[in-house]
Amino acid sequence: MPTEPTYLIVGASLCGAKAAETLRSEGFGGTVILLGSETERPYERPPLSKGYLLGKEDKSVIYVHEEGWYAGHEVDLRLGVTVASLDPAGRTVTTADGESIGYDRLLLATGASPRRLNIPGADRDGVLYLRTVGDSERLAAAFRGGGRVVTVGAGWIGLETTAAAREAGCEVTVLEPEPTALYRALGSELGEMFADLHREHGVQFRFGESVSELRGPGDSVGEVITSSGAALPADIVVVGVGAVPNTGLAADAGLEIANGVVADAALRTSAPNIYVAGDLANSYHPLLGRRVRVEHWANALNSGPAAAQSMLGQDVTYDPVPYFYSDQYDLGMETAGLPEPGTYDQVLYRGDRPGREFIAFWLAGGAVVAGMNVNVWDVNDDIQALIRSGKQVDEARLTDPGVPLTEV
Ligand SMILES: Cc1cc2nc3c(=O)[nH]c(=O)nc-3n(C[C@H](O)[C@H](O)[C@H](O)COP(=O)(O)OP(=O)(O)OC[C@H]3O[C@@H](n4cnc5c(N)ncnc54)[C@H](O)[C@@H]3O)c2cc1C
Repeated sequence: MPTEPTYLIVGASLCGAKAAETLRSEGFGGTVILLGSETERPYERPPLSKGYLLGKEDKSVIYVHEEGWYAGHEVDLRLGVTVASLDPAGRTVTTADGESIGYDRLLLATGASPRRLNIPGADRDGVLYLRTVGDSERLAAAFRGGGRVVTVGAGWIGLETTAAAREAGCEVTVLEPEPTALYRALGSELGEMFADLHREHGVQFRFGESVSELRGPGDSVGEVITSSGAALPADIVVVGVGAVPNTGLAADAGLEIANGVVADAALRTSAPNIYVAGDLANSYHPLLGRRVRVEHWANALNSGPAAAQSMLGQDVTYDPVPYFYSDQYDLGMETAGLPEPGTYDQVLYRGDRPGREFIAFWLAGGAVVAGMNVNVWDVNDDIQALIRSGKQVDEARLTDPGVPLTEV
């Protein structure tokens, strides 16, 4: 009698949990094991810098599934288990406790970790990062004191935590080496719009400046020394300087690594029977014509299921238009595409920019390659369709709010 195959998923967060769900919903009858380092059952991270951090949302909103879902669907969820090594030839992983677990097919969904500061004083008390639910709870407790916060990095995590700190009554100064906020994500004009939003809420920015040293008193942080030599008093330092993919396991096992674990459009890695998804994957994206690694919620949500289908032998091409959202104060936005510097030659707008109710379009060679709707809703699907079409657009019609996006 042939034994049922074992499909093993390493990384029990949004991506891994959605992959397990898809294996079952597609009718896979073998063993599904979901291993994760964290002790909390799989949860989503966006609320950790928004509603949950602000104390406006209950912890129950973060979970991917109800507590009983895993046992109810015969998913063997093992929490607090870190995989220490992987043997692709022997088709086994070994946990940090020395347990060996065999698999027929393996999904790597180990995500990413915050990039750490590497400067004198970086390990002082009061220097906080944000990735896990425990990190979010530590930040919320620290902000409740209403002290002086220095945020290092004006990216999405830095700005969202800054908004939460301001709403809790903290004084906040943001240090950012680039010329404005979100410079690499959105470019200067739109980055400046986000900086202005925060300035209106009393946030101080120091652009063109980074952190050089963190000083006491004692083991705590009390002062931030910047690259220009300024000394900023601080009770809390929040570090949001990007994330690095957790490639260690795959790299040690000899899988191809380049800014994440390299995969084809079906999320297959360079090793047989090993797949990758979520923040960890740098997969070939046929629509964009290059490999991309996307650190966004929607990518974890959708690539886990796509990888599961691929594991099941289905014909998969994973090429969604990348999607991202953020909420800061009363501004909500969604972005479709990846408006990275060098990928566009023009930015056009439709709607009310001063009133922050508009859509920005990034164009390359007359076609829309990315779009961001700010406090304008129910248009992102149309923006995605425009990007996917690759068609030349009429600029006057694109920027005219009276013309439906489906007819530009
Ligand atoms: C605070 C915060 C706010 C965010 N807000 C937004 C947002 O508003 N919009 C948006 O689009 N995106 C947002 N994101 C990004 C989004 O949450 C990520 O893209 C998503 O979490 C990626 O999911 P993942 O499952 O691939 O990886 P992760 O969420 O990183 O999960 C990987 C899991 O694998 C575990 N793991 C790692 N190594 C091992 C190992 N060796 N053995 C076992 N387990 C291991 C980790 O502990 C972790 O639980 C946010 C991220 C953060 C941190």
